[in-house]
Amino acid sequence: MAKITGWTGKLLRVNLSTGSISTQDSMKYKDFIGGSGFGHKILFDEVPAGTKALDEANKLIIAVGPFTGTGVPSSGRTNIVSLSPTNPYHAATDSHMGGNFGPWMKFAGYDAIVIEGASKSPVWLRIEDDKVTIEDASGLWGKGTRDTSAEIAKIMGKEACVASIGQAGENLINLSSIVNSNSHSAGGHGAVLGSKKLKAIGIKGTKAVPIADGKAEDWLKLNDYFMKEIVGANNQHVVPSTPQPWAEYSDPGSRWTGQKDLFWGAAEPPVETGECPPGNTNWVGLRTQKGFFDLGPVAEERTIRMDGCHSCPIRCHSDMLVPELEKYGLSGYATSTCINYSSPLSIMIKGTADGDSKGMDAFITKCLGSRLADDYGIWSNYAQLGRDFKYVYEHGILKEKLPKEEYDSIPWDLLEKGDPAFLLEFYKRIALKQGEFYHVADGPYWLDKAWNLGKDYWAYKGNNIWSKMAFPKHHSNEAGSHVGTLIQIFKNRDANSHTHMNFIGAGLPIEVLKEVAGEVWGSPDALDKPNDYTPMNIYKAKFAKWSMDRNYLHDSITVCNYTWPMTVSPSKSRNYRGDTAIEAKFFSLATGIETTEAELDLAGERITTLARCETIKRMGTVNLRKEHDVIPDWVFDADPDKKAYTPGTVKLDRKDMETAITMLYKEYGWDEKTGAPTRATLERLGMKDVADQLESLKLLP
Ligand code: SF4
Repeated sequence: MAKITGWTGKLLRVNLSTGSISTQDSMKYKDFIGGSGFGHKILFDEVPAGTKALDEANKLIIAVGPFTGTGVPSSGRTNIVSLSPTNPYHAATDSHMGGNFGPWMKFAGYDAIVIEGASKSPVWLRIEDDKVTIEDASGLWGKGTRDTSAEIAKIMGKEACVASIGQAGENLINLSSIVNSNSHSAGGHGAVLGSKKLKAIGIKGTKAVPIADGKAEDWLKLNDYFMKEIVGANNQHVVPSTPQPWAEYSDPGSRWTGQKDLFWGAAEPPVETGECPPGNTNWVGLRTQKGFFDLGPVAEERTIRMDGCHSCPIRCHSDMLVPELEKYGLSGYATSTCINYSSPLSIMIKGTADGDSKGMDAFITKCLGSRLADDYGIWSNYAQLGRDFKYVYEHGILKEKLPKEEYDSIPWDLLEKGDPAFLLEFYKRIALKQGEFYHVADGPYWLDKAWNLGKDYWAYKGNNIWSKMAFPKHHSNEAGSHVGTLIQIFKNRDANSHTHMNFIGAGLPIEVLKEVAGEVWGSPDALDKPNDYTPMNIYKAKFAKWSMDRNYLHDSITVCNYTWPMTVSPSKSRNYRGDTAIEAKFFSLATGIETTEAELDLAGERITTLARCETIKRMGTVNLRKEHDVIPDWVFDADPDKKAYTPGTVKLDRKDMETAITMLYKEYGWDEKTGAPTRATLERLGMKDVADQLESLKLLP
């Protein structure tokens, strides 16, 4: 048998109902690459139709790909696939953790861990290479994720990586996460582990992850080329945010915030980030000053360093010194990125005490909220948690629905004063499922069910909730017109695809981006100017399909879609062209299987299509066009005084969007009437077994 490289060739199965622990050849799933692909295949094959997220029959698959642990830049993400309690149909969602857990799985010898069944009492899973045991977790149940990690590290040693749920997952809160190494997942999968009474997984391993024989030199060359010529900053923003002597362009929205006179102020001694131009590998990690970007200038003197996931040169997590947190019973340290820092402010709906959304009060609020959310294991649903809270508070619904005693016990005065101490109560009441308040963390669909919010809630302008799948707007029509909108219709949770966003937001002038669009998707017309859209065309459909397929590919090989793909670069000498074949180059060197860009994109299409079939199976209908791919009215009704496709509006035209959906289905070879993959398409992609199962369920178009 040929030597397996990149992958470990083994997956671990743990059945918590029976206590059985076994391993299996993971290469039977090789066509699905790893990560998300493995997860969806196992779920589709093994979890019966009609299963709900918190049922014993649901499975949760933690999986990574052939890049994980090899050192491919930004390959430290871990993919989780399971049915999700946040989704109205309990359809499957992908959620992703950063941190170190995925590489640690590979070092222990596993491409995937499949959690099956449910324990009767709290347990944790201990994995040390081939030795796997189910341990009693009664002493851990009720603890936050940090204390849980610390307790398990005392048992396994500090070199162990621990993924755990907090009290929110234990109490089956819909918006609950799984957390490792200060990185959290999304999608309600914390509650799935809670339903299985699995508090945590501690893992350590001593194995290497080899790449293909004789390819070390090519690997180093490719890595050097990537670091010196191709990679930019977080989100593959390839121009600096401020003008710099070496840079032809700059863009204030860029996450490339490193600049002269900007410091990691709490480092000893302070470190100046400098101009960090392309061409020097050591400067890549200084470009993304997310503390400054996410939290404002006040963060500069509090930044210890930039941190992040295993193997990532970008470092998008800001480690901050925040002694003020001690007042709230926490250590004086915060680390996170992006929405986890910004969403606590959306909960403080009366603003901060000093009224400044970028001042010190906002900074403390964000750091405190992110610490509490991660420790309790609560997911913000891209700040929809705050928007839902705002809606039910301001519309008097909380007062009406909560028992009077419970309502009166909430310290509303803290909220009114903008005191961040309100967050202590907010998160605790949700995570501990005290009274009825926790419903604010049900997610839109279930919150509506619980409290009968009705049409006004769904139409409420501040909410921007996306269709029947009940997630918030996230890079939709405002980001790439039809392309962003089409990407949203695939999803069962928020559209966590950054493939198109990274390109649109790269910071280059629109003329340059349009040239690149012409080279990658066949015409500059694939890309509209911001706020100046044109009607649908076939190139936009190709752009949308490519974005989705790369997204699923990234979540399967596994690299961070928060930074990949490399559609453009910061190199003027390359005329800002990126390299969309780098995934295939690394894949060939890691696995020893010579693979072209087109072949890898086909694998991405296979996984996208499989995930689509998974959704059909869960929803029990073939007609996704009518039941799933529904675009909310606000996309078409915005700016009533303006017509679609006139400058200054991002609104789209309803009829034209139907044309767009049909074009996308055609690109995939899906049935135009229902949006379901046909048997011919499934067989073209090597998924006859998937077609057979859907046919047996009467779910083929
Ligand atoms: S860009 Fe950020 S989220 Fe992505 S791998 Fe790097 S540190 Fe992790």
